[in-house]
Amino acid sequence: MSKLRIAVAGGGISGLSAGIFIRERYGDRAEFVIFERGAVPGGTIQVTRETGYIADWGSNGFLDREPLTLEFIRHIGLSDKLYPSNQKSAKRFIFRDNRLWEISAKPQKFLTSGLLSLGGRLRCAGEYFGRPKRNDRDESIFDFGVRRIGREAAEMLIDPMVSGVFGGDSTALSLASCFPRMEQMERQYGSLTKAMLAKKKESKGKKPGGPAGPSGHLTSFTGGLYTLIEHLQTKLHDNLRTDSPVVSITRNTDRTYTVQTESSSETFDRVILAIPSYQAADILADFHPELAKQLYEIPYADIAVICQGYKISTVGCPLDGFGFLVPHNQGRDILGSIWTSTIFPEQAPAGYVLFRTMVGGARRADLVARNEASLNDLVHRELSSILAITSEPVFRKVIRWQRAIPQYVIGHSGRLKRIDDYLAGFDGLYLAGNAYIGVGLNDAIKRSYHIVTAMHERDRDKIKTA
Ligand SMILES: Cc1cc2nc3c(=O)[nH]c(=O)nc-3n(C[C@H](O)[C@H](O)[C@H](O)COP(=O)(O)OP(=O)(O)OC[C@H]3O[C@@H](n4cnc5c(N)ncnc54)[C@H](O)[C@@H]3O)c2cc1C
Repeated sequence: MSKLRIAVAGGGISGLSAGIFIRERYGDRAEFVIFERGAVPGGTIQVTRETGYIADWGSNGFLDREPLTLEFIRHIGLSDKLYPSNQKSAKRFIFRDNRLWEISAKPQKFLTSGLLSLGGRLRCAGEYFGRPKRNDRDESIFDFGVRRIGREAAEMLIDPMVSGVFGGDSTALSLASCFPRMEQMERQYGSLTKAMLAKKKESKGKKPGGPAGPSGHLTSFTGGLYTLIEHLQTKLHDNLRTDSPVVSITRNTDRTYTVQTESSSETFDRVILAIPSYQAADILADFHPELAKQLYEIPYADIAVICQGYKISTVGCPLDGFGFLVPHNQGRDILGSIWTSTIFPEQAPAGYVLFRTMVGGARRADLVARNEASLNDLVHRELSSILAITSEPVFRKVIRWQRAIPQYVIGHSGRLKRIDDYLAGFDGLYLAGNAYIGVGLNDAIKRSYHIVTAMHERDRDKIKTA
């Protein structure tokens, strides 16, 4: 038998990691091509390195809690470039009533902070006694929050956390699809507090994560997250074809697939679409209209990332934390701001700071449509008032992402089931990427790993006889 031919569409982290896993599993028994639409790989992981600043365009790191990601990094030989976030960035803040409030992971400290009213804090503490949900209805994250910790805490803590992770609207997103662990914790232990206490006991004092943020430390690489992409680009040099958008896929009678790009047509045995779901839908529209319809229905949020550098002596607020999030009901035009140079000190020159501020998201796509100058002004105005800044930024970079982050809205799990049912009719066609079961980098790598592992399992007998 000749070598198995595998096509991967998309050269973001999902497609590139799939390439590494294919090489690892199949060795020389398969040949693979990664087709990337753009001139450079990386997808939403891009960077500007200029005048001493390192400004990530999208994600600025991953949480180090996922062993598979760390093993992947070790496997590709990049562990020595890992750059963990600075201890000084441990604190997180919420903006309420024109000031920043620290949110602490320690329950006593959290419950004595003035972020919530006394009634709100008591309601939060009552979570322990709240009755678990008694039906299987898909519930919004916001409704779950109101039910468990009360409306005020849902508005002040849950809503901004959701816009921080998904750029999403907590009243529209599904708890079960976005935070399946939380749903499971309630189901298994009856309350989140009971679940956290049980987990604390199990992990014997190790930090399980809490209201201040997710468990794990944000981790990047020396030179910013794009260092990972540059390294993968070198490793996959012979397999990666840039400026090669896949435009369609057809299935042949011998069960192979013809992959059509703007300038070529080639036959492959397996195809992995590691691209956003609406782009996968474009490719599959003629081949399988029903599947394409389901994929088109996964909504995405637009988001703008505004990177601004200032002279540190002109910032009146101590930047002793990760940054802050802004609850929707505070009526501000930003979702939150990350104090990048506190988290990763090498990302701004000495004596200067770098902020990455998020604007838009599911609720305010209109803001993302504004021009760069207007977004720069808007964010400068907001940061100046919140952080007491007295100068103009000396570094600016605005990135506007259209359809940046998939939104797992209520009904997402049903849609996934229909997608999987359609896919089951075709062996050899797979959907990778972050549109399905996790939006973070860890999820993207994990999904590619599971796809390649399952594909290899099915091919094992075939390639043994080669
Ligand atoms: C602003 C922002 C902040 C984020 N912050 C974090 C964070 O802090 N932590 C975290 O874990 N995650 C974060 N994420 C999410 C994380 O970046 C993504 O989950 C991950 O990068 C998705 O990678 P991907 O390869 O699946 O998709 P993408 O990065 O979208 O890559 C898809 C690639 O496919 C290519 N493509 C599209 N259509 C075609 C076609 N027809 N043919 C060929 N190629 C095609 C595109 O050009 C692109 O290169 C963030 C995302 C954004 C947008």
